Amino acid sequence: MEQIPYKIYLRENEIPTAWYNVRADMPTKPAPLLNPGTGKPMTAEELSGVFCSELVKQELNDTDRFIPIPDAIRDFYRMYRPSPLVRAYCLEEKLQTPAKIYYKFEGNNTSGSHKLNSAIAQAYYAKEQGLKGVTTETGAGQWGTALSMACSYFGLDCRVYMVKVSYEQKPFRREVMRTYGATVTPSPSDTTEIGRQIRAAFPDTNGSLGCAISEAVEDAVSHPGYRYVLGSVLNQVLLHQSVIGLETKAALDRYGVVPDIIIGCAGGGSNLGGLIAPFMGEKLRGERNYRIVAVEPASCPSFTRGRFAYDFCDTGKVCPLAKMYTLGSGFMPAPNHAGGLRYHGMSAVLSELYNEGMMEAVTAKQTDVFKAAEQFARVEGILPAPESAHAIKVAIDEAMRCKETGEEKTIVFGLTGTGYFDLVAYEKFHNGEMTDYIPTDEELNKSLATLPVV
Ligand SMILES: *Cc1c(COP(=O)(O)O)cnc(C)c1O
Repeated sequence: MEQIPYKIYLRENEIPTAWYNVRADMPTKPAPLLNPGTGKPMTAEELSGVFCSELVKQELNDTDRFIPIPDAIRDFYRMYRPSPLVRAYCLEEKLQTPAKIYYKFEGNNTSGSHKLNSAIAQAYYAKEQGLKGVTTETGAGQWGTALSMACSYFGLDCRVYMVKVSYEQKPFRREVMRTYGATVTPSPSDTTEIGRQIRAAFPDTNGSLGCAISEAVEDAVSHPGYRYVLGSVLNQVLLHQSVIGLETKAALDRYGVVPDIIIGCAGGGSNLGGLIAPFMGEKLRGERNYRIVAVEPASCPSFTRGRFAYDFCDTGKVCPLAKMYTLGSGFMPAPNHAGGLRYHGMSAVLSELYNEGMMEAVTAKQTDVFKAAEQFARVEGILPAPESAHAIKVAIDEAMRCKETGEEKTIVFGLTGTGYFDLVAYEKFHNGEMTDYIPTDEELNKSLATLPVV
C-alpha cells in the first residue's frame, strides 16, 4: 500500500459542502432547551429573541442529516481549510509504540483554534438577517478572537465580554480582538444589570464564563439589531464543527485507514462533537464501532463527576435550561490554565450519547497535561494549546498501552489549537509552580445542590 504521508491534505474542492447533523441519526434525541419560567420546551419564537433565526432552525433541527454550507462560508473556509490530518510519525518513533497516531490540526488560522469554523457561520447568518452586531463571552479568548475575525469579515459590530481574570492575564488576546474591531469588556462589568448584581454579591470575583454569558445575553436582548452568539455547547455549534470530522474521515478514507480510538478534549463539547460526528453516525447506524474518548480537566470534571440533569447554562440564570452533564451553574473551577475547558456544563448531544454509553470520558491533571504538551511540542514541532494537550495526554497514554500489549491500534485525536497565548501557563509549568487542584466531593455536592428542580 502507498506510504501514508506526514500530512494528508485534502484539495480545496473537498471542503465539505454540507455540515453533518448527528442528531438525525440519534434514536434518542438530546433533550430540548426549557424555558426556565414555564418549564416548557423553548419555542423557535422564544429563541429568536436571543439567536439569529437561521441558527434557531439549526438548533432545533433533529431530522436533517445534512445541512448545506452556504457558499460565502465555504469561501471563508478556503482561507484556512481543509486543515491537515497529520500522521505523528515523530511522536510514534519517540514513544517506540506500534500504535499509529494521527491528529487533525485546527490551529492553522490567526484565532489559533477550531472556533473560527462556527464563528464564521454565526456571523454569516447574523449578516444575512440584517443585524447590526453580535455579543458574546470569551474565557481564555479563543472564541472572542475567532468571532472578531468573523465579524470584521462581514462588517458586523462585535461586543465581547471577557472573563476578568483572562482580560488581565491575556492582554495580547485582547489586542488581537481589538485589531479586528471588537469591543472587549472585562466581566463582570458595571455596564449590565446582571454584572452589577454579581459584583455586589461577589466583590472579589475573577469572573467566570457563566457570568460573562449572562452579561452578553443581557446586552444582546436590550439592544435592537443585536443577537447573542455562543462558541460551544449548543447543537448549532457542534453542527458547524462537523467540518473537522468530515475532513478527517475523508482524509483517512483516502488511505483506507479506520481508527480504533478517537480522542478529543471536552470543554463545552464542540470540537469533540465535530470531530466524532461522522464516526458516531456510523456507530449509531450500526455500521462500525469506534472507541470515542472525551478528556476533561480533573479541575472541571463535568462528565466524570457531574450529574445528568437540567441546569442553567449561565451563572446569572438568564439563559434557558439545558439537560446536560453539569457541575451546577454556580460551580467556579479552580484557576486552571486550560481556560477553554472550564465550563460547568456540556453539550446536550454529547451528554445524551455519553449517558447511553456511546462514548467514554476520562480526566487529566494539569501538570500531566503540560508534560504531554512539552513532549509533543519537542517532536512534532507544534506548540499545542493547553486544552488540546488534554487530548495529547490521553493519546500518548493509549499509545503506551499499545506498547505494552503490542497492539497496532490506530489513534486519532483533535489538536484543536496552538498555545502561543498560553505562555504564562507554560512558564508556571517550567518553574514548577503549577498546581493540580481537584474539587472535593463536598464542593461538588454544594454546587450540585443548587440544580433547579424541573
Ligand atoms: C475552546 C477551546 C476548546 C474547548 O471547547 P470545546 O467547545 O469543548 O471544543 C478546546 N481547544 C481549544 C484550543 C479551544 O479554544
